[in-house]
Amino acid sequence: MLRGDLDVIKDVEFIDQNPIGKSSRSNPATYLKAWDEVRKLMSDEKQAKLEGFKPAHFSFNVDGGRCDECQGEGSIKVEMQFMADLVLTCESCHGKRFKNEVLDIRHRHKNVFEILEMTIEEAINFFSESESTTAKRIVNKLKPLADVGLGYVHMGQSSSTLSGGESQRVKLASFLALEKSEPTLFIFDEPTTGLHFHDINKLLKAFNALIDKGHSIIVVEHNMEIIKSADHLIDLGPEGGNEGGYLVFEGTPEKLIKEPKSYTGKYLMPYLS
Ligand SMILES: [Zn+2]
Repeated sequence: MLRGDLDVIKDVEFIDQNPIGKSSRSNPATYLKAWDEVRKLMSDEKQAKLEGFKPAHFSFNVDGGRCDECQGEGSIKVEMQFMADLVLTCESCHGKRFKNEVLDIRHRHKNVFEILEMTIEEAINFFSESESTTAKRIVNKLKPLADVGLGYVHMGQSSSTLSGGESQRVKLASFLALEKSEPTLFIFDEPTTGLHFHDINKLLKAFNALIDKGHSIIVVEHNMEIIKSADHLIDLGPEGGNEGGYLVFEGTPEKLIKEPKSYTGKYLMPYLS
């Protein structure tokens, strides 16, 4: 059972592993609204102003600056009757997703396509070196993605290619990016799935950042690094499947390891000593 002052919670968010965004053109940079700032930055370039380009010209979601042939996808899908669909690089833009005149616009020698090719980490470094306030806003919007261990993802990487765990962390990052939000109860289902040890630490830091903002978190998890970091544990068991589902223990990690009936306690012991 959960007890506490429920009045301090204004909202509940279940952060699942379902894909973010339905369009194959959506990516982590668009989800965090960082791409809006990139479009603005590019349209502020002198050359862009001479050409009369607006931020929309740097969007791959609307006509104008994107490649007409592939509609900004960079590739063309050929449906095959008896085989898996073929994905071919667009012959018009050669996979660069935009028209040549748009690709000619550069911010510190980089055009939109080259920016989409950067990893989140590279983009943070690149825009950190810019003087412009728009570039600083881009860095602020991208940083939460690096904070949840997604620095290796490419700016333009289609959301449809992200794993369930990666999609979940993009959603977490979007909440970290909010400047102000009502105290919320976040529920995560096995967020460490597919994460390396180093990234589990990043995830824990991201959790702590949410808690520092006044939010609360419930995590369903088997990972001992996460379990040992909880304030309060609810251990269900004693076995899995039909043999489980009973409350074995409730309390702090330090007390759980003293509970002889708990398997979790046994496995947790080395993490606490
Ligand atoms: Zn194209």
